[in-house]
Amino acid sequence: MLDTLERNDSAGAAANAEHFDVLIAGAGISGIGSAYHLQQQCSGKSYVVLEMKDTFGGTWETHKYPGVRSDSDLYTFGYRFKPWVGAPIASADEILKYMGEVIEENHIGPNIRYGHRITGCSWSSADNRWTVEAVDKTGATKRFTCNFLWMCQGYYDHEKPYIPDWEGLNDYKGQFVHAQLWDPKTDYAGKRILVIGSGATAATVVPAFAEKAAHVTMLQRSPTYFFCSENKNELADRLREIGIDEPTIHRVVRAQIMYDQDMMTKRCQTEPEVVFEELKELVRAFTGKPDFEFEPHFTPKYRVWQQRLAFCPNGDVFRAAVEGKVTVVTDTIDRFTEKGVRTSSGEEIEADIIVAATGFRLSVMGDIPFSVDGKPVNWSDTVTYRGMMFTGVPNMAWVMGYFRASWTLRVDMMGDFVCNLLNHMDEVGAKRVDVQLRPEDAGMPLAPWIEEDNFNPGYLMRGLDKMPRRGDKPEWRHNQDYWAEKDQIPATDLTGAEFKYS
Ligand SMILES: Cc1cc2nc3c(=O)[nH]c(=O)nc-3n(C[C@H](O)[C@H](O)[C@H](O)COP(=O)(O)OP(=O)(O)OC[C@H]3O[C@@H](n4cnc5c(N)ncnc54)[C@H](O)[C@@H]3O)c2cc1C
Repeated sequence: MLDTLERNDSAGAAANAEHFDVLIAGAGISGIGSAYHLQQQCSGKSYVVLEMKDTFGGTWETHKYPGVRSDSDLYTFGYRFKPWVGAPIASADEILKYMGEVIEENHIGPNIRYGHRITGCSWSSADNRWTVEAVDKTGATKRFTCNFLWMCQGYYDHEKPYIPDWEGLNDYKGQFVHAQLWDPKTDYAGKRILVIGSGATAATVVPAFAEKAAHVTMLQRSPTYFFCSENKNELADRLREIGIDEPTIHRVVRAQIMYDQDMMTKRCQTEPEVVFEELKELVRAFTGKPDFEFEPHFTPKYRVWQQRLAFCPNGDVFRAAVEGKVTVVTDTIDRFTEKGVRTSSGEEIEADIIVAATGFRLSVMGDIPFSVDGKPVNWSDTVTYRGMMFTGVPNMAWVMGYFRASWTLRVDMMGDFVCNLLNHMDEVGAKRVDVQLRPEDAGMPLAPWIEEDNFNPGYLMRGLDKMPRRGDKPEWRHNQDYWAEKDQIPATDLTGAEFKYS
């Protein structure tokens, strides 16, 4: 089916809107993967990808701080359908190149409209379609209609990162920037840099800054677990050496990594102390310091499975600390001063540049206003079907990936799920699908999106009240468990009572 310019005069439908079977929001790794699966598995469907930026890549285009890279391996962060042929941990540029190849090899480019910021999505039950409004770069409002909306706009605000409400921030006379907004033209050679934070972003920028800066201080409220390793996969290297083809290597190495991660997750829960001791041993090996001191800066308070393990290639953070290029301070901020930051224990840390690596501002559905038959959607009034669909919001899916495993594993999995759903709707002649609580779900207790005890990154906890709610059965939760979902989701019975077709 070709894209058609359609005039729809029925009540509630948008006039002069371009119509597509499917509209994908966002050209990040989720949107591009979803477009690929749609083309492959629903080949007759017309679709468009609306992307507010001028190019694809999402996260990997937004972040430009020194050393920006993945902290998952690309054998699993890459798509299942396109072999990854490099070292497991990849720079943002390498990931963008990989995505560019996916777009080109599969002729996805002509379906993407760059510079289109979606500003509203409204569903009309009379027409069984969504009207999506977008503002293009000239400021003009464009209207699109679609039968199905595939939200791949990510989970955080790309323009406004999270900056705590620090006292005296305006008093600081040096340069203050959030890592998400780092300008790559910034000259930091010979400067004293203070990085506030200790998560994956801090773990990346701290050793990268240390290469050229006069000194780097990492000020953390609390320590993080680090996994030190060389950036290589021995199995992949060996298979390449003996002449195995890349698609086979990709498949086998993915299986190996996912198996190892599953074991690791289980061990983190059953023997966290042993795992922590192993993580420490890696630090000792990479720094060559058998007496490396882990107290107080490298002994986290949370349990090892509750947040993603921060990857540390060749122990770079620890080596920079041992070499005296990096100082770690574990304290809270009392206030900013003219010269830097004063901590709660009274120490003043002076810096020429302060970089906040304080995380994201959660953005539910891109903060885009949604309505169903004129009634605004309040996401916290909805219940999620497996973190993919939502009660009361028809013909729509949202790609929310994994955090402990690679995000993209869920992009592929949801690609299959959504395409199966669309094909099933065609088979039964349905124009609309809703997810609904079943009779056996009556009275099911509803709780916030995610169990704090299971997984608790700051940006999710800060915005939990804006998120859809979950139930206590697998169908009504996003459990972040790839190893359970890899069997459950493909086995979904689309004729089940949780799906209502009309
Ligand atoms: C520095 C960094 C490193 C990370 N490393 C890893 C890792 O190693 N492994 C891992 O699994 N995860 C990692 N993550 C998490 C990462 O964000 C996800 O894995 C993944 O990249 C998200 O992809 P996405 O396409 O869903 O969303 P995004 O990358 O956020 O892309 C969403 C796209 O939608 C567009 N968009 C948003 N709103 C609108 C709108 N209103 N209209 C039109 N377009 C819109 C955006 O411009 C963007 O291009 C990392 C995150 C960061 C910030």
